[in-house]
Amino acid sequence: MEKLFEGAKKFTNSDFLEYKEIFKSIQNSQKPHTLFIGCSDSRIVPNLITNTMPGELFVIRNIANIVPVYREVNEFLATTSAIEYAVKILNIENIIVCGHSNCGGCNAFYLSDDELEKIPHTRKWIQLSKKVIDKVKSDQEIMNDLVKREWITEQLNIVEQISHLMTYPYIKTLADENKINIYGWHYVIQTGKIYNYNREKNIFELI
Ligand SMILES: [Zn+2]
Repeated sequence: MEKLFEGAKKFTNSDFLEYKEIFKSIQNSQKPHTLFIGCSDSRIVPNLITNTMPGELFVIRNIANIVPVYREVNEFLATTSAIEYAVKILNIENIIVCGHSNCGGCNAFYLSDDELEKIPHTRKWIQLSKKVIDKVKSDQEIMNDLVKREWITEQLNIVEQISHLMTYPYIKTLADENKINIYGWHYVIQTGKIYNYNREKNIFELI
């Protein structure tokens, strides 16, 4: 706990001063260019891996960087409302769905029923990626190779979430008019390399 309070003091007295001008320029409004949808994993630091400053990224994070499909319901929808705000109010130009290596959320797709019992809300949440789970599970060769299974699951999951974004009518309209760029990234923690999804070739290419 002390570490966090010491960190807050260090930020105010040192790091903040370094970026003082930037904070001053954005103190009354934000104009981020990009909506970054990433995993909640502690090893993912969106500004670090995109070399961006405060004010540039509007960030949504959840287990396994999932985008729920569009629906009109009278519920409390955290991810959906943040997407709506970013696109309709902030007019962001880009959306990045960023998955990563060694993703615990994606790995949870394959936990036993007993293990999932302990995390009922996570079990429910990852159902949003059921198509990915079913697809990988149907391929015994991939299922037998854990390294391959992990990698393919993470990448298929990113592609699936891009398709979910396209179920949002206002995103579909902007995408059809080429007014928004949608990217899928796979970030590899141990190498620092990031792979960008190429839709035409249906492969992830090193940036
Ligand atoms: Zn993750």
